Amino acid sequence: MVAWGGDEFAIVLSDLNNFDEVEQMTHRIISLVASSIIINGENYRLTTSLGVTLFPFDDADAELLLRHADQAMYKAKENGKNQSHLFDVEKDQQAQTRRELLQQLTIALDDDQLVLFYQPKVNMRTGKIIGAEALIRWQHPEQGLLGPGHFLPHVEYHDLIIDIGEWVIREALTQLAYWLKKGLRITISVNIAARQILQRDFVASLKQIITDYPDIPLELLELEILESAALENTDHVARVIEQCRKMGIHFALDDFGTGYASLSYLRDIPADVLKIDQSFIFNLLEKRKDLALVEGIIGLAAAFQRTVIAEGIEKTEQGVLLMRLGCDLGQGFGIAKPMPAENFLSWVNNFQPDKEWSIWADTSWEISDFPLLVAQHDHINWVKNVLLYIEGKTNNFDHVRLMNHEECRFGHWYYGHGLQRYEHISEFMEIEPMHISIHQIGHNIVQLCKQGDLHSARENASKLLNLKDQILEKLAELQKKVVASQ
Ligand code: C2E
Ligand code: MG
Ligand code: MG
Repeated sequence: MVAWGGDEFAIVLSDLNNFDEVEQMTHRIISLVASSIIINGENYRLTTSLGVTLFPFDDADAELLLRHADQAMYKAKENGKNQSHLFDVEKDQQAQTRRELLQQLTIALDDDQLVLFYQPKVNMRTGKIIGAEALIRWQHPEQGLLGPGHFLPHVEYHDLIIDIGEWVIREALTQLAYWLKKGLRITISVNIAARQILQRDFVASLKQIITDYPDIPLELLELEILESAALENTDHVARVIEQCRKMGIHFALDDFGTGYASLSYLRDIPADVLKIDQSFIFNLLEKRKDLALVEGIIGLAAAFQRTVIAEGIEKTEQGVLLMRLGCDLGQGFGIAKPMPAENFLSWVNNFQPDKEWSIWADTSWEISDFPLLVAQHDHINWVKNVLLYIEGKTNNFDHVRLMNHEECRFGHWYYGHGLQRYEHISEFMEIEPMHISIHQIGHNIVQLCKQGDLHSARENASKLLNLKDQILEKLAELQKKVVASQ
């Protein structure tokens, strides 16, 4: 044992074989010191705080080991008297990694290693490009291009996020000025971190930035804030939005639906746009609950007179479904992935709106006819499942749904809601025999697979696909009739 400062001592112990022994030893030391001492007839008691670190788990040199034990000792002190604390190697490493990342990121900001990618936003009904979302990337000198998930979460509680945020706004405005000069007039959306928007002087800093861009119409700037950030301080965020609105700047609530607390909050937050979270869009066609949620958000947006946009559109059908549900605006890999600024103009010049969108562009859809849209996707899914079965990629095929054409999801719709609403339309009635046949083919395919005759099963698959297309065509005709009769 050596004295280590006025009232601090260091003890080096060897021959401890396991954690239990370490614990027993710390208890012994603390209780030894704590036992009373009598000096001149007076009873004295000392208290201790003990910090421990273990070599080789903590694989540091002697000096660092002492520093770690010292840090642990302060932790023990915080916890009260006569406590011991074991140095947390893992936490320390995390803290160290975070410190290093902060340093690197500060350099990155100064050295122009940060870049913005842009992802287009379109109006599917008009086929027009309406905007672009700026998404940050880090061109790391060793690790290559890093997405925000690799670094932003480590700085979101640090003031560096504010510096980065201000850089993003400047960079996006510079880009917008360039596009305007080139004749491209679209909205640019910038993500604002919670810590940044919650700053008391957020509006003042923003004003300061935009004075450097006097030629930019501020209506073209949109700020996206996370719904959860808005919830943290509704009054403040509402005030910020109002002040920005006076300048012409719009606000969108990002990842909408994930942090949603109450209806009154939506009343209090005057954001112009609700951006439906991508997690609800991914399974829109497969999961009824997600569909119900999206439908709810679109209704909510209409009720509160907000614009609604969906992110995460990866497939044409998702876009069509959204559009027909009343959400015309969209963004997603199915339209375009985020791209470097220099590719954007040529993307715009080559952009062709999806043909499927234009088919439905001049129709509106009554919500009571909505199950018809879903039935179409149920049918596609059923066929997909049979095909997966042939390839051995699914074995939990529901045999009742396979055998009985009234029991599959499409059948449920057909003999339920469908029959009630569309019995008088010939196209609807013509679907029934096709649907019965497709079930027979499906049944045959499964039987053939069970007998191990994959060759014949695959041959039957083409019949299945043919019939699927015929049913889809009929459904489309039916949909057209329904829309025309509205
Ligand atoms: P976000 O604002 O919700 O942005 C959408 C994210 O979803 C982007 O990821 C985009 O690439 C991705 N995405 C868009 N469409 C699809 C799709 O169809 N499928 C899939 N799988 N993903 C899609 P990214 O660029 O990795 O950004 C992630 C998040 O990081 C953003 O989510 C945003 O919250 C944050 N972020 C990005 N840039 C900035 C920034 O400049 N400042 C701040 N504070 N946050 C940013
Ligand atoms: Mg966003
Ligand atoms: Mg989002």
